[in-house]
Amino acid sequence: MPEGPEIRLAADRVEAALAGRRIDAIEFAFEHLQAFERRLRGQVVTRVDTRGKAMLTRIDNGWTIYSHNQLYGRWYVCARGETPRTGRQLRLAIHNDRHSALLYSASEIDVLADERLLEHPFLARIGPDLLSENPGVEQIVERLQARRFRGRQLGALLLDQGFVAGLGNYLRAEILTLARLHPLTRPADCSAAQLRRLAQQIIRLTRRSYRTRGIVNPPSLVARLKAAGYTRREQYRFNTYGRDGEQCHYCEGIIEQAPVGGRKMYYCPVCQPRD
Ligand SMILES: [Zn+2]
Repeated sequence: MPEGPEIRLAADRVEAALAGRRIDAIEFAFEHLQAFERRLRGQVVTRVDTRGKAMLTRIDNGWTIYSHNQLYGRWYVCARGETPRTGRQLRLAIHNDRHSALLYSASEIDVLADERLLEHPFLARIGPDLLSENPGVEQIVERLQARRFRGRQLGALLLDQGFVAGLGNYLRAEILTLARLHPLTRPADCSAAQLRRLAQQIIRLTRRSYRTRGIVNPPSLVARLKAAGYTRREQYRFNTYGRDGEQCHYCEGIIEQAPVGGRKMYYCPVCQPRD
């Protein structure tokens, strides 16, 4: 299941192919969208934003193509005139003089006027996107203290895309370990310093995973682990995620696993005591 960093990397590929270029041709598979083909042809794509697992392809005439990949949707970027070898259903094709960006299998596609984006049911409830909207530490702390979030257990809250968009199972585990907070702790139980440390880790680890394509441990730790003979990516990219029964990289603790928020939660009982 892709998390924010993987979604943003996919958006980067689409953006590199389309941004700043005029749309030569555009085709929607869904009949109710085909009326937009004429309106969008000849316009310039300005950028591609993400909102959680949704992608917003922004057009310079005030329209945005909304697409949500759900589980199966997949973007391909090809040289113009080429098509990927896939058995999937083509749902949207955007062509310019050099490239084609092709969206397969996704069933949630829409074209929205910019000023009405927030009326879309998904966009109306999603929190700030950690990699497209770049919220700051203060903004995250404010959300942690908000009435609708402060009573929730952190392990479940971090997976709620209405809180912030972009965190999934591996990021929530590593964020809580480095923030030294037990997954059943609630924001209401935390000191101001703890909330600040948590907000910093939410931002820092998401950006690091985006930059390193999924290596969440700090670079100094990764270097130390590699020098100690850890060769497989799975062993050095995380501290807690998927490492139950193994020793924490920071202490003598043995990583444990328990379901929180409907999915397996990994944590170090020593670094993250429940008090
Ligand atoms: Zn530990």
